[in-house]
Amino acid sequence: MNRKILVVEDEPKVSEVIRAYLEREGYAVHTAADGLAGLKAARVLQPDLIVLDIMLPGLDGLEVLRQLRQESDVYVLLLTARADETDKIVGLTVGADDYLTKPFSPRELTARVKAILRRGRGSGPGEPVLVFRRLRIDVDARQVWKDGEPVELTAIEFDLLHALARHRGSVLSREQIIEQVWGYDYYGDERVVDVHIGRIRKKIEDDPDAPALIVTVRGAGYRFEDTPQ
Ligand code: CA
Repeated sequence: MNRKILVVEDEPKVSEVIRAYLEREGYAVHTAADGLAGLKAARVLQPDLIVLDIMLPGLDGLEVLRQLRQESDVYVLLLTARADETDKIVGLTVGADDYLTKPFSPRELTARVKAILRRGRGSGPGEPVLVFRRLRIDVDARQVWKDGEPVELTAIEFDLLHALARHRGSVLSREQIIEQVWGYDYYGDERVVDVHIGRIRKKIEDDPDAPALIVTVRGAGYRFEDTPQ
């Protein structure tokens, strides 16, 4: 049962290099050469992870991601063509889980893909359900409820919330969060954490501007504060 990866990239050389490296790791790799084809392939294949280039003809990667996020929490690794901060931050805001800036080494891409999938859904049965006053986190089902209502989180948002909830009452620094959630030597910007926290807050806080469940501890990091039941 090989994990399925969809690569959406219009440059054949880049696409083929990615395919070769990922197939060597035993993944079943599918490719699509433009945004619309990528979106269709994602619906049909239901991949475990999508490598998505931003610069695509027609529908660009960010638009593909926007549409994808309406219907899927699949892991998305975004490829940005430039060292353009705006693209990265917009990409994360729209729902990417991670990004790589071109040119990247295929080894680096492979390492990130493996890390994402390793920490992902394969985490075996028997994990406890974390029950708090407001939130309920079912680790096996990867589902969250707030006040009894289901909350739709992306895969990485779930991982981040779970990491904080596991350490309820303790402050986690951005660095610790990156270690626990991304699970590898992350060379990117620590703001990745803030962007994802912002998105989670919009989904779980009564007032995202005055968060009560995930609080910011100035100069230190973040702390989960719901009360256990
Ligand atoms: Ca491209």
